[in-house]
Amino acid sequence: MRPRFDARLVNGPFGDPGLYVDLRHTSRALLFDLGDNAPLAPRHLLRVTHAFVSHTHMDHFVGFDRLVRICVGRHVGMHCFGPPGFVDQIEHKLAAYTWNLVHNYTTEFALIATEIDDTGRTRSACFSTARAFAREPLADGHAPNGVLLDEAGFRVRCALLDHRTPCLAFSLEESTHVNVWKNRLAALGLRTGPWLAQAKQAILEGRGDDEIVIAHWREQGEAVERPVSLGELRHEAIRCVPGAKIAYVTDVVFHADNARRIAELARGADQLFIEAVFLDSDGAHAQRKQHLTARQAGQIARACGAKDVTPFHFSPRYTGREAELIAELQAALHGDAAFRSGTDDAAA
Ligand SMILES: [Zn+2]
Ligand SMILES: [Zn+2]
Repeated sequence: MRPRFDARLVNGPFGDPGLYVDLRHTSRALLFDLGDNAPLAPRHLLRVTHAFVSHTHMDHFVGFDRLVRICVGRHVGMHCFGPPGFVDQIEHKLAAYTWNLVHNYTTEFALIATEIDDTGRTRSACFSTARAFAREPLADGHAPNGVLLDEAGFRVRCALLDHRTPCLAFSLEESTHVNVWKNRLAALGLRTGPWLAQAKQAILEGRGDDEIVIAHWREQGEAVERPVSLGELRHEAIRCVPGAKIAYVTDVVFHADNARRIAELARGADQLFIEAVFLDSDGAHAQRKQHLTARQAGQIARACGAKDVTPFHFSPRYTGREAELIAELQAALHGDAAFRSGTDDAAA
């Protein structure tokens, strides 16, 4: 089954960071980081229902204004997530403009902002055009295991990283697909029906093989019921396929604790988008600037077991030399002996 995510960087690798994820078969999209988003047409931004901001350095947050400008009067609402202090910063950004006329729009635009701290506690507030974007506090919450958004088909999780300011990395995880072979179901003497949704859910929850579900359907106007064990379904007629996973990691200094947190978040990602700002020969500068080198990004990607890796956030000092950054990342990703060193352990 094709994954439901269609992910692409908003800008080229030298431009502001940002990842746009279209949710196929829906009218929705998710946006990771709010830097310069000029390449996204209004119709793309109007699909966004959730935006996730790693941190509020300008190159990750300057596009918030354009997003709001396009959405006011045309979009019903959006939920934005960010690191500690984020709700105040949203309030300050909105307070920089005059909103005396927006209550006239027939479409109310309500923006919910949520920040998460390193204990998983969340603070939220709502800002609506109906009340000139005045801050309205919402109840505090908790994001167990860093889960910010949990929907029927997918979830978004975060990890809090160190960039000499808290910075969030994100993973977008599709739920496991539970596929049914109708012909094998028929061989068991069963028909499809609403009961299958319950059986699939029980299998997803990992319930035991001995558990019995009652299959029921209508046949020639007659109601038919047949008990069947989850084990029989699991082994004969149902196949579980892991969902797709995308991870987005940017603006992070390389040290053991960050590497461990990223590896835990992004483990097994099908697509890993990771910053690779400097060449390793400029490693001391990367450390000062709190960014990864391409080699460090490759080592982290290797530790994650990422299947496909896309580097971005290249420093402009390498304009015309992007092939060198990519080659360095690829060499570390594939464990090239020339790139093995003590720092490999830190990423493990
Ligand atoms: Zn940045
Ligand atoms: Zn930054």
